[in-house]
Amino acid sequence: MDQVSESEQLWRLTMEHSPIGMTLVGQGGELLVANRAFCEMLGYPEQVLRTMTFQEITYPEDLAADLALLEETLAGARSSYRIRKRYIHADGHLVWGDLSVALLRSEDGSPIHFISQILDVTAQQEYERRLAVAAEMLDHQRRLAEAVYDSVDVGLVLIDRSGRYETMNRRHRDFMALAFPDGHEGLAGQTGAVYGSDGVARLSREEMPTYRASQGEEFDDVRMWIGDDTITRRALSVSARTVHDQEGGFAGAALAYTDVTDFMRALDVKDEFVASVSHELRTPLTAVLGHLELLADRTDLPADMAQQVRVIERNAVRLRHLVGDLLHVAQVRDSGLQLARSAIDLRLLVQQAVEAAIPSAQAARVTLLADAADDVVAMVDGQRLRQVVDNLISNALKYSDGGGSITVSLQRTEDLLDIAVTDTGIGIDEAELDRLFTRFFRGQQAQVRMAPGAGLGLSIVQSIVQAHGGRVQVESEVGVGSRFRVLLPYIAP
Ligand code: ADP
Repeated sequence: MDQVSESEQLWRLTMEHSPIGMTLVGQGGELLVANRAFCEMLGYPEQVLRTMTFQEITYPEDLAADLALLEETLAGARSSYRIRKRYIHADGHLVWGDLSVALLRSEDGSPIHFISQILDVTAQQEYERRLAVAAEMLDHQRRLAEAVYDSVDVGLVLIDRSGRYETMNRRHRDFMALAFPDGHEGLAGQTGAVYGSDGVARLSREEMPTYRASQGEEFDDVRMWIGDDTITRRALSVSARTVHDQEGGFAGAALAYTDVTDFMRALDVKDEFVASVSHELRTPLTAVLGHLELLADRTDLPADMAQQVRVIERNAVRLRHLVGDLLHVAQVRDSGLQLARSAIDLRLLVQQAVEAAIPSAQAARVTLLADAADDVVAMVDGQRLRQVVDNLISNALKYSDGGGSITVSLQRTEDLLDIAVTDTGIGIDEAELDRLFTRFFRGQQAQVRMAPGAGLGLSIVQSIVQAHGGRVQVESEVGVGSRFRVLLPYIAP
């Protein structure tokens, strides 16, 4: 085999087995040779392709650009070119090709034919198209999110894992200006003109919502006031959620601040109204009860009238109780709770509270027991603490059904008094647990059962327990029962 035919043989082999489409094209565009890859790419047998021109298999819209480059090459302005264009497959669909063309010239420089290499880039083209669509969609979403972020009426802040502010929206910048008139360092926990829900006590670093969120805490509806000026200050309700990284670790937190100024001011007005009305009700109610008592003592009343007097008296007592609760709440709100501590026998206190409730328990067919083994004498406000135990027993009775049982236990450890009221009643939905102690809050079941009450009992319990430096714990399961534990620091007489 001579040298020429050997190199030609090599060339043919290369061409035939190349995974890239290859053709030899005459000066008029006729396809002289097409390799297997190109035939497969366009779905034609080679004999058929050889009868065609590249113009016929090029998508009409892409032909002009190809021809222009071809002319330039023939004219000697360039020796090769590269273009991305569409071919028409034998079955009619379009195939994207990345085409490289070189012109082979004879020794005297006259053109012989074109050598073309065509890479099928249909999949890549489709991928790029989809990528472009996705990028555009992403960009649209981003702009939309940005617009929403900046226009919502809620202050939004994102902090990173070290508590540094990452971003905040326009609304929150207004809040920041009010809370930090001297500027903010951009780090969670900085204190400023930020006050608790009473509007009086400044929040400490540990109480600041950003600080709590930076410690991984999640919460809802934490109320606070910002600003020093009583006219321009705003009330905010804050919630926080933790942000996780891909491994589920703590990556920071998102906080949302809702302006609840109008709501808080309305609450204040309501409180003032309730307090003044309750106050006004007390005097006439005392007179009504006094006269009812006199009436009830009379022996000359007809039986049906005596019965009616008892009904009136029972309801008037309930009314007095409600007015008392309302006044208690108003007083705690306005001036806190003043305790009158003295040495109190707590076992006696618990026993008396249980005994007083026995008639109601019997009427409700509920077993009521005191479980106070040891003598415990401590410095507490006896009257207030009795109110606590009474309220808890009254709730346990209200939310128990016939056949149930209630136990009131008393224990003392080294430094803690532990009074627990445990019932086998209806229990409390988990979603309601953290609102139980809010004034006027009534559970769903309490409303369904139409149990008497205004939603003040537990708030009173909590205010008294907190005034003693203690806390109330609740454990409850729907359908099983509840346990309210009052834990007080023990002060020896
Ligand atoms: P009230 O009993 O007047 O509704 P409270 O402040 O005493 O108000 O209690 C608030 C709510 O807590 C009640 O409405 C009720 O849903 C729930 N609750 C309190 N004690 C119990 C209990 N022992 N068992 C079940 N639910 C209770």
